[in-house]
Amino acid sequence: LTGIEISSRIKLASKKDDLDTTIVRVGDIKIGGEAIAVIAGPCSVESRKQLMDIAKAVKQAGAKMLRGGAFKPRTLPYSFQGLEEEGLRLLSEAREETGLPVVTEVVSPETVGLVEEYADVLQIGARNMQNYPLLRRVGEAGKPVLLKRALSATIEEWLGAAEYILAGGNGDVILCERGIRTFGKLTRFTLDLAAVPLLKEVTHLPVVVDPSHGTGHRQLVAPMARAAVASGADGLIVEVHNEPEKAKSDGAQSLRPEDFKALMGELGAVARSVGRRL
Ligand code: PEP
Ligand code: MN
Repeated sequence: LTGIEISSRIKLASKKDDLDTTIVRVGDIKIGGEAIAVIAGPCSVESRKQLMDIAKAVKQAGAKMLRGGAFKPRTLPYSFQGLEEEGLRLLSEAREETGLPVVTEVVSPETVGLVEEYADVLQIGARNMQNYPLLRRVGEAGKPVLLKRALSATIEEWLGAAEYILAGGNGDVILCERGIRTFGKLTRFTLDLAAVPLLKEVTHLPVVVDPSHGTGHRQLVAPMARAAVASGADGLIVEVHNEPEKAKSDGAQSLRPEDFKALMGELGAVARSVGRRL
């Protein structure tokens, strides 16, 4: 390995040699293999019709998994908090309808059991990356975990969080770069794409990129999605909404179904240019 070194106390998440790579399997989808796994769907599950329309559109465009929040960690308590269990049921229905495995967020240790009944991948949100009881609890779960980087986490703090899940016995951890807080105000966060090749040096875990939260603006999502694939990401997680102006959360950064389809049309060539495929 090269000159970039992480703490020797990060044992389970660290990469032992060049061949040390983990492929996380979700049904017959592989994350960390040759193919780029694209996860897409609304920020929040809002209604049956909203979710079904979006799920069918992203499936048709080539997404491999469906995202959608049922438990939403919102900055203010007055904002829409998600449909909770009803949202989970709708996600299950959408999986039955489309065949797409479901990625959804879990916000508390007490609800991991419930979310696990419905989800294929448990998402730990940026705001919960250092919720250690929650990390320990998903470490005991039987489902893969998508671990988002906290708003101000260093790479080592992020790998430390992954270490909790791995040490708990759950080896299926996917890291998700979703932007960090810097001083700029025109983007919502600063997407740290250098984290992708860096992580490839220091950890065996697969890495996906979220260009939606990473930028906050729809127009910036496709360029950063292409850049993420070019940088070596194993997958993308992208917010898509059929009526972004009416979305209950994150409308401004949500692609319309036609924008998502256009992006999927562009990604194959980018993937091939770095020895990967869609
Ligand atoms: C989300 O995926 O909708 C979300 C809340 O993401 P993050 O935790 O990265 O802000
Ligand atoms: Mn969101």
